[in-house]
Amino acid sequence: MNQFLLNDSSLESQFRSVFLFGRNVATYKFALSKTLLQLSQKEVGFLTLEDLSPYYVEHMLQHVRSGKRQITSTSSKFIQACHLYDAEQISWGDFIDVTQKVGFNNVLDAFHNIPNQTLDNAFFEKDVKGNKPGIVLTDDLFRLSESPEFENMYEEVEGRWNLVETAWQEQNPNLHVNFDVDKEELFCLRPVTAQNYMNSHNRVSLTPVRKPLNGYQKGKCFYCFDSISIESSKENTCDVDHFIPLSIQFSSTRDLDLNGVWNLVLSCHDCNRGDSNGKFTRLPIKQLLLRLNKRNEYLIDSNHPLKESIIRKTGNTKAARSKFLETIFDYAKSIRPAEWKPKTIHDRGF
Ligand SMILES: [Zn+2]
Repeated sequence: MNQFLLNDSSLESQFRSVFLFGRNVATYKFALSKTLLQLSQKEVGFLTLEDLSPYYVEHMLQHVRSGKRQITSTSSKFIQACHLYDAEQISWGDFIDVTQKVGFNNVLDAFHNIPNQTLDNAFFEKDVKGNKPGIVLTDDLFRLSESPEFENMYEEVEGRWNLVETAWQEQNPNLHVNFDVDKEELFCLRPVTAQNYMNSHNRVSLTPVRKPLNGYQKGKCFYCFDSISIESSKENTCDVDHFIPLSIQFSSTRDLDLNGVWNLVLSCHDCNRGDSNGKFTRLPIKQLLLRLNKRNEYLIDSNHPLKESIIRKTGNTKAARSKFLETIFDYAKSIRPAEWKPKTIHDRGF
């Protein structure tokens, strides 16, 4: 069972678990997540599927236009309709008609399903009024919109969506995810074959790194648990930090993969580079390594493609992964003392 919701039944964590850990055969759950976040700020109760459709298709269309796969099966009437509408081959009315008939297939029933677990709260319920099927938004959804985490979540869904569609598009769930330090984005490299040897487009941008990482830390600084933002230019905009400092690599002749997702965490400004007690290139105390292990296990509980990247790098089993972290940490400790820790702890963590 996933530990993410253990002793934590907050609405934020429940909603995040839907888009971070729910299994997907199509990206409809992401579109519905964004639609619900959008609607939670409006004073609406019951919506027919016809009312819901324009919001929902707006998100689908944005992603369909990217050309990436939105479904694992070979054909879908709804995705086909998205393409046709985009190519001006069907009218808006026809598009909405197809959407309400087949665009919500399974997603309404499966939305709250996460592996081996049932959520305590529901963000909407299916309902029918005057022969029209639709949904009723619940008070829990409206409460979620008042959360300070709310703004981050919209972007987190987007980050997760970017990862999943690229993994499907490349038809390779085993993409090796890399981190571009300068652009602060995740990318992968297509395997070089005889056909694409001379092609400079073997690099595929995945997503800005903050978006898919934030949810697994529940919107908190990895070190002090203060709340962070993934939007730029906010007072609490987070930094991307290498748990084991990148400079440790200079002491080693083998590639330590310190830019791997397993070593990347989001930190508040003060913890990362604050004047009084910034971490900078210091190594954290070993207690914090357990937390990194826990965060990595959260990533492994969600599919494509971060899970596979971390497993490939750090091991197939929990025990192997824990040993991997321990070994690399001990190596780092032989170079510099493991002594840094945050000054204050702000919350009960993630
Ligand atoms: Zn902090």
